[in-house]
Amino acid sequence: MLQVHSPNFNERLFPLDMLVLHYTGMKDGPSALEKMRDPASNVSAHYMVEEDGRVFSLVAEDKRAWQAGRSWWRGDEDLNSRSIGIEIVNGGHEFGLPPFPDIQIAAVIELCQGILSRWPIPQARIVAHSDIAPERKEDPGERFPWKRLADTGIGLWPPDKSPVEPWMMHGAAKGDKGITVDGLREALAGIGYKVERTGEFDEPLAAVVRAFQRRWRPMVVTGQGDVETVARAFAVAQLTQAADLQR
Ligand SMILES: [Zn+2]
Repeated sequence: MLQVHSPNFNERLFPLDMLVLHYTGMKDGPSALEKMRDPASNVSAHYMVEEDGRVFSLVAEDKRAWQAGRSWWRGDEDLNSRSIGIEIVNGGHEFGLPPFPDIQIAAVIELCQGILSRWPIPQARIVAHSDIAPERKEDPGERFPWKRLADTGIGLWPPDKSPVEPWMMHGAAKGDKGITVDGLREALAGIGYKVERTGEFDEPLAAVVRAFQRRWRPMVVTGQGDVETVARAFAVAQLTQAADLQR
C-alpha cells in the first residue's frame, strides 16, 4: 500500500455502510492521481488501484472522500458520507474499454475483502458508480468482472440461468406499459436503484436498465427489457431480499 495524500475530503455525516467501485476513465494512473490530489479538482477517492496491482491510499477510510457525486441508493443520497470509494485505473468507454488485467483485479479483490472485514457493509450496498448515478455515469463499465468479485464474497451474483415466469414472457420495450414494465420497475427498485414505481417505459427507466445490464448482464447493454434482462433483474431482487433478511 502506497500512502499519498489528497486534500479533498471532509468529515462523514452518516455511518459508513457502502462500497463504490469506479474506473478512472483517464489516459493513465498518474493523471488520475494528479487530479485527485489537486485541491482545485474537488474530487478524490479513498483508494486507487493501478493496472499493475499497486494500491494507493489517498484518504483515510473514516473520512468522507469526494467520489460519488450526486447519487442515490436504497433511499440514501449523501453517499460520499456513507461509502468507501475505489478508483480502478482503466481508460473506460472513452478509451475503448480496455480489459482489466488479472493482477489489478486480484489487488481490487484483496482491498475490498480488507474493507469488508473492517466495516459493516452489506452485500446489497456494494455498488458500481453507474448503479447510483445511472443517468450520469457508466463506470466501472461492462468489462469489469463483477462475477469474479462475487465468487470471492464481494457483491451479489445470481445463477447463470434465471427462471422465466409467465409475466416476464413478452419482455418490456421503451414506450410499453403493463405488468412486465411494472414488474421490471419493482425488481430494479428492490435491488436499490432509483426508479419511479409506475408509468410507461421511459428514458429514465432505460438508463437504469443499462446500469443494471452493465453490472449483471454485461453482454447486452441495450437499455431494453428483453426477457433475460427482466428475469435476471427479478433474480437479483430476490437475492437482495434474501441478503437483507440474513442481516
Ligand atoms: Zn466514478
